[in-house]
Amino acid sequence: MTTFQTFSTDYSEAREKFLTAAHIAGATMAHHESGTRGPRGEALFADIAWLGPDDADRVVMTISGTHGVEGFCGSGFQIDWLRRKGAAALPRGVAALHVHAINPYGFAWLRRVTEEGSDLNRNFVDHTKPYPQNPGYEEIANAVVPSALSGPIFEAAEAKLRAYRAQVGELAFFRALTGGQYTHSEGLFYGGGGPSWSNRTTHAIIDRFLTRRTDIAILDFHTGLGPYGYGDLITHYEPDSPGSKRVHAFWGEAVTESKRGQGVSQALHGLTHFAYNEALSKARVTIATLEFGAYDRESNRRALRADHWLHTYGDPLSSEAEPIRATMRKQFYPDTDEWKEMMLFRGHQVVRQAFQGVTREP
Ligand SMILES: [Zn+2]
Repeated sequence: MTTFQTFSTDYSEAREKFLTAAHIAGATMAHHESGTRGPRGEALFADIAWLGPDDADRVVMTISGTHGVEGFCGSGFQIDWLRRKGAAALPRGVAALHVHAINPYGFAWLRRVTEEGSDLNRNFVDHTKPYPQNPGYEEIANAVVPSALSGPIFEAAEAKLRAYRAQVGELAFFRALTGGQYTHSEGLFYGGGGPSWSNRTTHAIIDRFLTRRTDIAILDFHTGLGPYGYGDLITHYEPDSPGSKRVHAFWGEAVTESKRGQGVSQALHGLTHFAYNEALSKARVTIATLEFGAYDRESNRRALRADHWLHTYGDPLSSEAEPIRATMRKQFYPDTDEWKEMMLFRGHQVVRQAFQGVTREP
């Protein structure tokens, strides 16, 4: 009988449950405090639990909360794994590494972005080089986050987006909107401004826990794209590359490969995928996004529009913030039993396959 008590109502509850479950499981812990605070003044941390031998060559890693508010899902899975499986489930010589709330600011404030306003999954670019261009976003930037959510300014912005959308088509519209942009820090899917705290913390985790390993499987939990409840395993390896072949050896046919033009995400630059593969180029890294669908792209856009309006033009601590935050939460965390059940089933399946995968490697 499945229960869903490993899911939480907010960041603080999730953190408390994760720390308790990891402690009971006998994990070695590390804690990175972000220095920012949550809406109730709470301190915010990315927490790390390591289970298994210190000198394990092979590691299976999970990440929750890359996109803040999406952390309800990955956190619920991680706590469930710690309570049900824990160190007893580890194959010989294999360790588990769970990173809880890599973007705790976004989790606590129910936002997708980090405290810098940055999309962590667009932020892993070389910030010393010119940023990637997104001319489509430039055309619509002012309309994406209008200065008002009703009235003539709002109507004009929506009209501009409708016209652009009709002109370029759905695919190009969402590519411009969501593909990542490096010019408008108040805007959606902004990846610029330098390495965010979550980016730097990612590298600290890599340095401390991963540099000496030979085989590393990584599952980065996301929500919000695709059919409701379906857990889409998305990878960004070049077709037929060693990474792509490992992905198929680990997870079989149920893999979506963005480089084959599959998948619902339009992201190209600065992905978590690149951070791990580049920093750990001597290891066999097999990384995938596990993306659980919720609602459609258009309602995503409206939720993100209101969230960015609130943090650009509104007051995130006023009463006007509550309905906007509630919409964000529901959009990326449907909070229904059937959704959680699908999430846990698929999460355990994919993580079990990852353990089998790293154990099989020569
Ligand atoms: Zn995401």
